[in-house]
Amino acid sequence: MINPKLKTMGEQFGRRSWAEPWKIKMVEPIRMTSREERQEGMEQAGYNTFLLRSEDVYIDLLTDSGTGAMSDRQWAGIMLGDEAYAGSRNFYHLEEAVQSYYGYRYVVPTHQGRGAEHLMSRALIKPGHYIPGNMYFTTTRVHQEIAGGTFVDVIIDEAHDPANLHPFKGNVDLDKLDELIKGVGPENIPYISLAGTVNMAGGQPVSMANVRALRGLCDRYGVRIYLDATRMVENAFFIQEREEGYGDKSIAAILIEFCSFTNGAWMSAKKDNLVNIGGWLAVNDSDLFDMLRNMVVVYEGLHTYGGMAGRDMEALAIGITEAVNDDHVRSRIEQVRYLGDLLTNWDIPIVKPVGGHAIFLDAKSIYSHIPQDHFPAQTLAAELYLDSGIRGMERGIVSAGRDPKTGDHRYPALELTRLAIPRRVYTQAHMDVTAESVKAVYDAREQMRGMKMVYEPKYLRFFQARFEHIT
Ligand SMILES: *Cc1c(COP(=O)(O)O)cnc(C)c1O
Repeated sequence: MINPKLKTMGEQFGRRSWAEPWKIKMVEPIRMTSREERQEGMEQAGYNTFLLRSEDVYIDLLTDSGTGAMSDRQWAGIMLGDEAYAGSRNFYHLEEAVQSYYGYRYVVPTHQGRGAEHLMSRALIKPGHYIPGNMYFTTTRVHQEIAGGTFVDVIIDEAHDPANLHPFKGNVDLDKLDELIKGVGPENIPYISLAGTVNMAGGQPVSMANVRALRGLCDRYGVRIYLDATRMVENAFFIQEREEGYGDKSIAAILIEFCSFTNGAWMSAKKDNLVNIGGWLAVNDSDLFDMLRNMVVVYEGLHTYGGMAGRDMEALAIGITEAVNDDHVRSRIEQVRYLGDLLTNWDIPIVKPVGGHAIFLDAKSIYSHIPQDHFPAQTLAAELYLDSGIRGMERGIVSAGRDPKTGDHRYPALELTRLAIPRRVYTQAHMDVTAESVKAVYDAREQMRGMKMVYEPKYLRFFQARFEHIT
């Protein structure tokens, strides 16, 4: 199965073979289905992988969000839940973990990332504001728009080219940002929405040099920087690996240094932080903290639980400490790369360099004969499921949604099908099976036709839209 041309992990890292820094204590059986069963399931799901039943999925690469495996220590923490309405001890553990690993002063818990995005957007954005960011993220942008703001993409151009090998494709283009600030005035920019790593660009990192320079530019204009810290640990790994002067620093040291250039962060703890549910906001500004702590009571829950149970906060506090372990981060990212290397060896087009959390298949190139408004990435996700029961998801025109002003589809440069790898869940053998299925679908690419959308919800349509094959 493994191509002999492929270098071993040992060769790549100057040491012997590499394996996960954990062993399996409990297993969860998964079901294999027949092609007929999958055909029926897919039709019922309107060719949208979000609408499949998870019991009908064999290898679930829909998302790395909340799908990770908790450690025995985290499960032990679950038993230590203090389910008091107010002042749960687990909240104080969480607060301390965020303060010591991310370095921010004030912490507000939320039920998950979008709860935090909602509060941050509502607290800071006024109608007519512009929010520059290094590529949009679906839930982030929708909250910015609902608050009356307009998102402006200021990522470097390289991020829009799936084949470009720039080591930090998540970087902010400071010239684009400077031009925007001059154009609309710094008073109309409540903050820069900075993400590390950039999900929609393929999990691409931001360099330390870029965030340092961004801080300098923003200080000149008095503009704040808030960080989407969802996959910032993975970003720290790429800095350690690729950036001059960081090779000997720990992930934890890099993480805290990076955060020090920003004014605060919001977090989907379901990613880096290794829990199945949870999120938080953290800021250094005490007035903003007061406002957020007041708003959380309205929308999420009391400021010492924010929609989480005490046990969830304990698992999260422990998850934060495990997330920054260097061996953990390395094995997480190497597993993603292992899958990427298998596909690359078969010349299957994917976003490169391979990012932190997922492989992104370049559906635009694979189905180059299918026009973008016939949903090539959606089609590819459906075909993969039909072939093997592997579930990925669309990251292209469906995810990009419609322009609120014109009502037209937004046509993103990237039309991708994402295979996200849950943390600490699947083995190398699952990656082999996945690669073989992608290859089979790739080999049959010329017979495929696109789809039409037959149901479209107003917000975040990719979650619930339904499709049919074009006949
Ligand atoms: C998942 C995610 C969010 C939203 O978080 P949820 O926990 O899903 O609500 C925000 N930003 C990024 C980059 C994400 O990947």
